[in-house]
Amino acid sequence: MPSTRNSPNRKQTKFIFVTGGVVSSLGKGLTAASLAALMEARGLRVTMLKLDPYINVDPGTMNPTQHGEVFVTDDGTETDLDLGHYERFTSIVMTRLNNFTTGRIYNRVIQKERRGEYLGATIQVIPHITDEIKESIHKAVNGVDIALVEIGGTVGDIESLPFLEAIRQLRLDVGQGNAINMHLTLVPYIKAAGELKTKPTQHSVKELQNIGISPDLIVCRCEQPLNHDLKRKISLFCNVPPDCVITAQDVDTIYRLPEFLHAEGLDHRACELLGIWSPEPNLQPWRDIVSVVKSTRPSVKIAVVGKYVDHSDSYKSLHEALVHGGVANDARVELEYVDSEEFEKNPQLVEKRLAGAHGILVPGGFGQRGVEGKVAAIEYARTSQTPFFGICLGMQVAVMEFARHVAGLDGANSTEFATECSHPVIALMAEQRTIDDKGGTMRLGAYPCLLGEDTQAHKAYGVQEISERHRHRWEFNNTYRESLEAAGLVLSGVSPDGKLVEVVELKDHPWFLGCQFHPEFKSKPLKPHPLFVHFIRACAEHNNLG
Ligand code: GLN
Repeated sequence: MPSTRNSPNRKQTKFIFVTGGVVSSLGKGLTAASLAALMEARGLRVTMLKLDPYINVDPGTMNPTQHGEVFVTDDGTETDLDLGHYERFTSIVMTRLNNFTTGRIYNRVIQKERRGEYLGATIQVIPHITDEIKESIHKAVNGVDIALVEIGGTVGDIESLPFLEAIRQLRLDVGQGNAINMHLTLVPYIKAAGELKTKPTQHSVKELQNIGISPDLIVCRCEQPLNHDLKRKISLFCNVPPDCVITAQDVDTIYRLPEFLHAEGLDHRACELLGIWSPEPNLQPWRDIVSVVKSTRPSVKIAVVGKYVDHSDSYKSLHEALVHGGVANDARVELEYVDSEEFEKNPQLVEKRLAGAHGILVPGGFGQRGVEGKVAAIEYARTSQTPFFGICLGMQVAVMEFARHVAGLDGANSTEFATECSHPVIALMAEQRTIDDKGGTMRLGAYPCLLGEDTQAHKAYGVQEISERHRHRWEFNNTYRESLEAAGLVLSGVSPDGKLVEVVELKDHPWFLGCQFHPEFKSKPLKPHPLFVHFIRACAEHNNLG
C-alpha cells in the first residue's frame, strides 16, 4: 500500500483536481476559488492547494511583472497570487503546505537522497518525485471534506507532467468516487465565422487523456454562453455528459463568479460526482457585493502611485482590498495606476495627475526606480490634504518625505537607495545585515503590533493589538524617532517590545497613514480590512461623496 494513502479509519477527503488547457490566464485560480466558496456555502469543510510546475523554490524571487504579486501567508511563506484568491473567496487560512513548486519538490527529494533515506535506490521521476508530490498533497488536506488541487500551467507543458502523473495516481489511490478532474479550457469566438469553436477544447482534452486523465467536468471559458448544441458537441467528443460541460462566460466583476457557476450547476454536479449530500448554498452575501461594485453611484477615485502600473496583477490583493473598502462604505472604487517615474521626468505632472484623485496610495515595492516620484506624490498628498495610505515601501517613503520636508533632515533617505545618505531614516534591520541569500529571507509573515490610543489606526481597528503580514528587509530607523516625533510624526503602531515602528500617521490631516505591513493580504470581500474601510471612508467624506 503506498505511504500516501489515507488510513482507513480517517475520514476520506474528496479531491477535485483542477487543470487548464489551450492557453494560460483563463482564470483557473478564480474558478477553483469560486467553486470552493460554493462548497463552503454548502456547509462543507474545504481546503485548496496550488501546485506550480516552475523550478523556482517559491515565487519570492520572481519579478511581479512576470508572475504577478507574491502573496504572503501568516506563516511567512511567499506564495503564488492564486492563494490570495483562495483566501479572499473562502475562510481557509493558507500556509506553506498549500503551495509548492517543482523546485521545492526536487529540493526535498534531493535532500532525502543525500541523507540516504532511499536506501540505495535509483531516484526517478516516477515513483520518487510523484510520491513526494502525493505526500505533499496529503499533508495539506488535514481531514477536510473537499480539497481542491489546482495544477499551474497548461496541459502539454513539459514541466507539469510529474504533477499530472501524481494526480492520476492519487485518484487511483483514493478510489474513483473520491476524486474528480475539472478541466478549464477556452472556447474562442471567431468573429469572421460568427461562431464559438470547440476544437481547441477537444484537443486539450485529448492531451489530458493521453496521459491517462479523463475530465469529469469541463469548464469552458468563453465570451458568449454555450448553447445546448455546443455543450452536446463537447460532451460527445470529450466523453462527459452535457450537464458536466459548464459555461464560464466573461463576467464584469469576479465576485459574480460564484453565483454564475452555481447557476450553471457546477457545485451541484461536483457534489453529485463525489457522492456528497449538502444543502443548497445561500449566495445572498455575494449578490450584495456585486450590487455595490456594479452600482451607478459616483465612485471614489484612488490614484495608486507605483512602478508596476502596466501589470495590474502585480497589485492584485491591493486592488481587491480597495474594492472591499468600497463595498463596506457602499461605494464603488475606481483605481488609476500612475507611474511614479513620470513624476521624476516631469514634476508638473504631479498635480495634473493627482488633483482629480479622492485619495492617493503608494504601495509596496523594491529598488530605487521611481522612488523620488513617490516622494513627490506623498508631498502632494500631505500638503493638499488628500487622504493618503502608504503600504510598506509606501510608508518608508512617507517617512523620508516627512523627514526631508517637515523635520528639516535634508537628504533623508532609505539605505536601500542611498547607502551613504546624510540621514538614513529607513535602514536595514540588524538581522538582515549578514544575509546573502535572497530567497525567503525577508521579514516575512504575521507579527503582532500594538496601536496607540487616539490614533487613526486604533480608530480603524477598534482594538489595541493587531496581527499583520510583513515582507520587507528595511525598517524605520529608531535613531530618528525623537526628531521625527518632535516634528509631528505620530508613531501609532509599534511591535510589542517597542523596538519596531510599524505604523506612522499625521495629525491635522484628513487621513494620512503608513504601515510597514501589508494589510491588503488579509482583506476579503465578505470581511473588508479596517484600514481600507477607513481610508475609503475618509476619501469619500473629505470629498463629500455619498
Ligand atoms: N523594499 C522595501 C524593503 O524591503 C519595502 C518592501 C515592500 O514594500 N514590500 O524593506
